[in-house]
Amino acid sequence: MLRCSVCGGRDFTSAAVLWDGLATEWQLSPGERAYIDRQQGTACKTCANNLRSIALADAILAATGAPGPLREFVTSPAAGGLKILEINEAGMLSPVLRQMPGHVLAVYPAVDIHDMPYETSIFDLVVHSDSLEHVARPVCALAECRRVLRPGGWLCFTIPTIVGRLTRSRAGLPKSYHGNPADSADDYVVQTEFGADMWTYVIEAGFDSVTINTVSFPDATALSARRNL
Ligand SMILES: [Zn+2]
Repeated sequence: MLRCSVCGGRDFTSAAVLWDGLATEWQLSPGERAYIDRQQGTACKTCANNLRSIALADAILAATGAPGPLREFVTSPAAGGLKILEINEAGMLSPVLRQMPGHVLAVYPAVDIHDMPYETSIFDLVVHSDSLEHVARPVCALAECRRVLRPGGWLCFTIPTIVGRLTRSRAGLPKSYHGNPADSADDYVVQTEFGADMWTYVIEAGFDSVTINTVSFPDATALSARRNL
C-alpha cells in the first residue's frame, strides 16, 4: 500500500490533470496518459504532495540514508549539516525543503542551470523536479549540477518520462507546454520528451552511476546520481 514519503500519510486523492491537446502533442497512449495523470494528479490528503514529489522525497531519503518521512528529516540534526540546492521550485515539496537550514533556491531566469553562480563542490544535495524537459542542453545542465556537488554528494530529480519509448527532442515540432497553455511563457516550452534512455543523460554528464527510485511504477519514479570524485 502506498505511503507518503513526505509526511507518512496513507490516504490519497486523485484528479486527472492532462488535457487532450497535450496528450495529442505528446502522442500518449491511453495507458501512458493514465500514469502521467497519476504521477501529477494523485496526491497525499495530508500534505498535498503528488506522486512525483513523493518519489523525489523517497529518492532524497534513500540518498541521505534517512529513515523518513522527509517532513521529519528536514528539521533533524542530520539535515542541519547539509547544504542543499533546489533548482526551480519542486512543487509542494519546496516548502518542506526550505526548512533545511542549508537550503538555497535557484530560480530561472535569475539562475541559469547551464551556468550557475556557485562555487565548485559546495552542495551535499542538488534537487530539481520536472525541470530538465524545459532545458536547452540537458547533458550540460546535469554536468553543471555535478560540478556544484561535493564528492559524495547526490543529485535527486524527477522528469516526466514515457518509459515505453526513447527520448526525443521537440526541436522542429510545434511548441508544447506542460503548464496551462493559456498562461505559459516560452520559458516553459518543452524541449525534450524523455523516454527509457533518460538515465544515459546522467552518465554522459559525468556521473558514475544512476539509481532509479520507484515508489510506484511507472507513475512515481525519481532518479538519483552520486558524484564519487
Ligand atoms: Zn503526505
